[in-house]
Amino acid sequence: MLPGRGPNGRAAAARLSRLMGTRTTWTPVGDGEFFCPGCGGDRNYQRLSGQRRFALLGVPVLPRGATGPVVECAACRHHFGTDVLDHPTTTRFSAMLRDAVHTVALAVLAAGGTCSRASLETAAAAVRAAGFDDCTEEQLAALVEALEADTGRFTGGPCAAGLAIELHEALDPLAPHLAAPGRESILLQGARIALADGPYTPAERDALATVGAALTICSDDVTRLLAAARTPS
Ligand SMILES: [Zn+2]
Repeated sequence: MLPGRGPNGRAAAARLSRLMGTRTTWTPVGDGEFFCPGCGGDRNYQRLSGQRRFALLGVPVLPRGATGPVVECAACRHHFGTDVLDHPTTTRFSAMLRDAVHTVALAVLAAGGTCSRASLETAAAAVRAAGFDDCTEEQLAALVEALEADTGRFTGGPCAAGLAIELHEALDPLAPHLAAPGRESILLQGARIALADGPYTPAERDALATVGAALTICSDDVTRLLAAARTPS
């Protein structure tokens, strides 16, 4: 007799599933670190592939095929689909954010040509706030000089080719993991560096447009944000 609905039915179903049902045995196929959405933090995980077997009285008798793979959190033991691995760990995410601000600062400084003290101070403060605690104005100035020596041969200013690639490399992987305010905040930090020594130059506008595009901010919003950054809040 098949179990029906209601409390008696559920009890019967539970009894039945103890007698027979599908059991899955998991085999580790890899490990690493991920952000666990279950217990909310960077954790170790094991990647498991499963083998399903039909079991009678708890004893697996018939293979029912492969299942998974799943990701098991070492801390809370919850299982997740492997798509959880698409999300960066908090450590990785902070590093991406820090690199993004650093690259944007360099691109804007390089686009401005000779770096004024005010631009360097604004840039260094932004980079320190993003996580490079010991970033100094002198370090940034030296990097910009090295970039200019390296990329100055491109026509159309130092930002034209080399830095556009750098910007995309730093920002493209980050953009999908940031909500709109987070992406806008990175662009605004770049805008404030550009504005520290006066109005935007065409090269600074170009660099900021590249930043906006890499952050998947549409060009209308880039224009709006660049105008908003000019108005001191
Ligand atoms: Zn967990």
